[in-house]
Amino acid sequence: FGLKKELEEQIRVFPDFPKQGILFQDLTPVFQNPETVNRLAESFISAFDGKFDRVLAVEARGFILGTAVSAVGGRPLALARKKGKLPGEVHRADYSLEYGTATLEVQQGTLKQGDQVLVVDDLLATGGTLSAAGELVVTGGAKVAGYAVAATIEGLDGAERLSPTPVFSVV
Ligand code: 5GP
Repeated sequence: FGLKKELEEQIRVFPDFPKQGILFQDLTPVFQNPETVNRLAESFISAFDGKFDRVLAVEARGFILGTAVSAVGGRPLALARKKGKLPGEVHRADYSLEYGTATLEVQQGTLKQGDQVLVVDDLLATGGTLSAAGELVVTGGAKVAGYAVAATIEGLDGAERLSPTPVFSVV
């Protein structure tokens, strides 16, 4: 549990960011510690016993941890990006935000049929983002091995929304 304590010490909390009433968990100090990032990547890999073929990283902070998991675990990296950023044919999944909707996209052909994909982001709140990323995996013909995040906001039932697919969160 050293890693959990390490993260708790590094995550900074900003009240009323980006708007009134939101208690924003800022992970940027974590990204300044290569050893913590490395340990996070290793913890994601061992939480799933290395049983995944590919990493799908969610824009934007998920790219940082997803890249680390891909490099440390030696698994190819795929990107789930916000609408309009990826060239070529894409698969799309819409999801709802507090106000309005957003869209995640993945390039067609990135996920291989039958692949077990580990979906990585920095933080789980309501689960809307990860559930859209999971939809992209399924649309791409692959399977979601699990979801991995550094931190979860309690009380929003994010993991319940993603169940029965396993969710690993350090904090
Ligand atoms: P959800 O879709 O689960 O409600 O929200 C999770 C997404 O919003 C993640 O992509 C995450 O990066 C971002 N997010 C929501 N709240 C926070 C927060 O307090 N801190 C950080 N770092 N990201 C957040």
